[in-house]
Amino acid sequence: MTAAAPNETAQTGAARAIARCDVLAALSSLPTGIERVAYSEEHRAANALVGEWMREAGLTVRQDAAGNICGRVEGEREGLPALVLGSHLDTVTDAGRFDGMLGVLLAIEVAARVEAAALPFALELIGFTDEEGTRFGNALLGSRAFAGRAGEDWLATPDRAGTTVAQAMTAFGLDPARIGDAARRPEELVGYLETHIEQGPHLIDADRSLAVVTAIAGARRFALQVTGRAGHAGGTPYPRRRDALVAASEIVVEIERIAIETGTIGTVGRIRAFPGGVLPHRQPGLAHPLADERVRGPVLLGVRDALDAGRQRGERGEHVAAGDRACRPGLHRPVRRSGGHAAPAYESSAASVPPPAGTRTPLRRSTASSAARVPSTASRRAL
Ligand SMILES: [Zn+2]
Repeated sequence: MTAAAPNETAQTGAARAIARCDVLAALSSLPTGIERVAYSEEHRAANALVGEWMREAGLTVRQDAAGNICGRVEGEREGLPALVLGSHLDTVTDAGRFDGMLGVLLAIEVAARVEAAALPFALELIGFTDEEGTRFGNALLGSRAFAGRAGEDWLATPDRAGTTVAQAMTAFGLDPARIGDAARRPEELVGYLETHIEQGPHLIDADRSLAVVTAIAGARRFALQVTGRAGHAGGTPYPRRRDALVAASEIVVEIERIAIETGTIGTVGRIRAFPGGVLPHRQPGLAHPLADERVRGPVLLGVRDALDAGRQRGERGEHVAAGDRACRPGLHRPVRRSGGHAAPAYESSAASVPPPAGTRTPLRRSTASSAARVPSTASRRAL
């Protein structure tokens, strides 16, 4: 593999990774802002570029059956299980330039600097596709395929234009029937490490550059439907109204109240009202709030109560269910140690809540100091 030039400093590598984030940011489907969704031309270009950078760092590169871009360099002998480093290359709409990309690009810097032939394991890099679910609503498509959990049922999921996952994969040059080939067996891997920007203000508030995440929050997303009765706003007296949008609004407020009270994170991100309209002459008969519940908790019970209390007929369907996962101490301890000295732990406000029943590990972040400081403005710009 290509070792870094002797006079190349860590700062040089960090600066290159940041500069490459800017290059990737230009691969966007938006004229201003960043959006790069799965199986798009921008995804193709990003995979090509990142694959080239991986090659320059001495890795053998391939694109797997799900569209993840993968690189590998052997350890002290061929065929050893691999430590995997990486993150995602797709984005949400109007994304930050470091979200996901930084984890892939810093992994390339690690690969370029480490003497892989001395390692008792292989090193693999990965740029996951469709972590965000921006195009099809099914988040974590690339990483689930990698974990051997690709669902056949996903392939028929359409995007907003009606193109299914299977059609998009085919147009991308992949064979959707072979998505299972992206699966990796546990015995092929020794672990997975990812650098990711923080999506909140806790590091800035704590005046820290780096923290070790000890657990990954679970997320469940639900689409709720509230059915009322459309009526003329001027002619329908309040006691006779069944305004679905008012009921949905109560649910939104209730979700926040319950989430704060119970230490769960619950968010409603979207409401659509039908028949809708700009003029307030007609009460909505249908409202669809799309709710996102992080961790687990009693939020949905509260929603059900709110629906019942509002005498509305409510339906809910689960879109995404990703379980929470504790990170293995065996992996995060060395990362914490790499800062050179112990750092005081702190708990974020979101993390300091008691875990709901059934959650194995409380969400807790601990800071670790680091020689390589990420400018705090970087996090701010990325948010
Ligand atoms: Zn991300």
